Amino acid sequence: MTKPIYFYNSQKGEKELFKPKDPLEVKIYSCGPTVYNFNHIGNFRSYIFVDILRRSLKLLGYQLNQTMNITDIDDKIINQSIQNGVTIEEFTQPWIKAFQEDLDTLSIEKVEHYPRATDSIQEMIHIIENLKKNEFIYEKEGSIYYSIGKFKEYGKLSKLDTSGMISGARYDTDEYTKDDLRDFVLWKAPKLKGEKSWSSIFGEGRPGWHLECSAMIRKIYNSGIDIHTGGIDLLFPHHENEIAQSKGAYPNEEFVNTWLHCEHLLVDGQKMSKSAGNFYTLRDLLTKGIDPKSIRYLLLSFHYRTKLNFSIARLEEASKSIQRIQNTIDRIIETKEIEDFSGIPVGYSLSKYEDFLNSLADDLNTPKALGTIFEFIKEINVKLDNNQLSEEDGIDTLKYFNSINSLFSIFRVEKLNLINEAEIESLIEKRIEAKKNKDFKTSDEIRDTLLEIGIILEDTKSGVKWKRK
Ligand code: AMP
Ligand code: ZN
Repeated sequence: MTKPIYFYNSQKGEKELFKPKDPLEVKIYSCGPTVYNFNHIGNFRSYIFVDILRRSLKLLGYQLNQTMNITDIDDKIINQSIQNGVTIEEFTQPWIKAFQEDLDTLSIEKVEHYPRATDSIQEMIHIIENLKKNEFIYEKEGSIYYSIGKFKEYGKLSKLDTSGMISGARYDTDEYTKDDLRDFVLWKAPKLKGEKSWSSIFGEGRPGWHLECSAMIRKIYNSGIDIHTGGIDLLFPHHENEIAQSKGAYPNEEFVNTWLHCEHLLVDGQKMSKSAGNFYTLRDLLTKGIDPKSIRYLLLSFHYRTKLNFSIARLEEASKSIQRIQNTIDRIIETKEIEDFSGIPVGYSLSKYEDFLNSLADDLNTPKALGTIFEFIKEINVKLDNNQLSEEDGIDTLKYFNSINSLFSIFRVEKLNLINEAEIESLIEKRIEAKKNKDFKTSDEIRDTLLEIGIILEDTKSGVKWKRK
């Protein structure tokens, strides 16, 4: 059984009831990373949004077939691989690995498909062939462009007035600025010596950036999809161009039913971005000793359609909020003998769980969902203070926390493992050794394991100190 869910569809400009073609296979495509560097936490706001979308739909009874693309060819990648004297694949592989590690660190669930642009070149060429047949393209100096004036619906998603558009003005880089209405490149003739290129009936070259999403959707789903997501900066021109390509190449097929766009993470009121230099990578924050759970909590605790100003102080608040919820869970769990709290609540906590689900069903309203949780916690703490939480209600409440944790993946709904001082010291020694060997993955894992069982490490000038939470 699925529960109805409402989404703010950017195409419609309003909330509407979500009607997937098949609730047992909801098709979702999300624009993913360009792999030439570490992603910053602004990027991760978009990916956490995708994770919340995924986990919410699953909690509401839907089954998913989800894709996030990996852009492994663009101007920056080409330039840097030439500079470093390595192939595109050699250059991008470590960045893809780092991206996947970061997803794990932030407890972002893996989706079903992570296609790479370089694996979908033939599908992209096929789209250009169809666009040629349908008379949407022209050639200039060896490159192929999409003539946006030929596509009557251009501007419908972004609601741009295209009447004053610059016809024949061309765009052939991978960098686009908002509000630029120009014909965009589909197939780019090579410009640099040694630049990676592919053969096609349009000559040697490589695809323009927009093309990969249209091609991958077609390749993976063979037709249109239920939901397409991306950061708000992608709404125009990227998503507008995706529509122009897909509808131009396959005019009789539906493309995207629901468009969802995530607002930006800001720093001092400005979009966090690599080009502005105002960014933190996830790893920057981890080296400052910040718990990834606080980052996840902060990024999901604001509604995805509101701007979020990032600050370290906000991460500290996030950490306190996590602790408030965790303390209540620990207070209840301490009195329980059993360990298995799986399954959804059916008694005392059922209505609170429904409030939580209803908030998610209202356009993924995570702040509202958190509001219902904090209200409930207040009530439970009063009961605990007065010894009024019965055994049965306590267990039902732990089922509630376990269930909401399917969304958060932040809390520990189990008893703390008791660990003695010698064991702690031995793990600290192992971590020091791992750090010496620059094995930061292991050293981070040890720190996280200790943190999970309530042991906080502090790197001080006089060595590593530890304390219980
Ligand atoms: P990029 O690697 O720049 O193509 O971005 C990858 C994803 O991150 C896209 O969905 C962008 O819209 C998104 N993104 C980039 N910067 C931010 C930001 N400051 N806040 C939220 N999402 C962002
Ligand atoms: Zn895309």
